[in-house]
Amino acid sequence: MTTDNELKQIVDELNNYLEFRQSMGMKTIPDQNIETQKSSPEISEKKQPRTKPMPKTTSALNEDIITIEEPAGLFDGKTMTLEEIREEIGDCTRCQLHEGRTNLVFGDGNTKARLMFVGEGPGRDEDMQGKPFVGRSGKLLTKIIEAMGLKREDVYIANVVKCRPPNNRTPEQSEMDTCEQFLFKQIRFIKPEVIVCLGATAAKSILKTKASLGSLRGKFHSYSGSKLMVTYHPAALLRNPNFKKPAWEDMQVVMKELGLPMPKR
Ligand code: URA
Repeated sequence: MTTDNELKQIVDELNNYLEFRQSMGMKTIPDQNIETQKSSPEISEKKQPRTKPMPKTTSALNEDIITIEEPAGLFDGKTMTLEEIREEIGDCTRCQLHEGRTNLVFGDGNTKARLMFVGEGPGRDEDMQGKPFVGRSGKLLTKIIEAMGLKREDVYIANVVKCRPPNNRTPEQSEMDTCEQFLFKQIRFIKPEVIVCLGATAAKSILKTKASLGSLRGKFHSYSGSKLMVTYHPAALLRNPNFKKPAWEDMQVVMKELGLPMPKR
């Protein structure tokens, strides 16, 4: 029997969900019942290993599309497992960020994910829990993932820097230069079909560009054979709800690429 409190909680959750969809510019509700939705094997299992050749250079035809290879010399032909990468990081003191760290935030999710999200660096909640995107931004990211018809467990989530910058400041270039090798190793192991860079810091690190987020978003770039979409960081969506609609448009491009059912218009 459902108590009044339980009923109120269900209604509140439903309201939140509908408000979220409306704020993202979604006009319909999906067919699936989000509470009973099964895990999504079509996204969590890779269809086949990729056989596409590594992209060599930035596309000459479309200069605003960036095509980039893995950094030379980092891998020595080897693909490390996530355990090996975590072991290599160890009790890291390579940069000053370790000084304020409670927990190092390595990354989390499906190790065979077809879709990988990359953020900037842990915030306070992530530092406390040792997991990426578990605070306010993380809750919004989870809603976005679910609006795509997926579950958090279907995707892999990591950051450019693994330790929290003081007062959540943007990581310094030297901190990114020191830490991003581990992200590149994670990407090499996971080999996602699509990478979503959440915000300019992730885009700058992976695509090696200073281009603005506005000019990078909305289309696929390419990193080592993975399609790469740049979109707004969830924290930016919380600060400026006007970004929600374009961010959802970016996610729809990703959904189409992955063959996920598109919401009806
Ligand atoms: N912001 C990020 O960029 N990453 C996190 O893990 C949390 C907040």
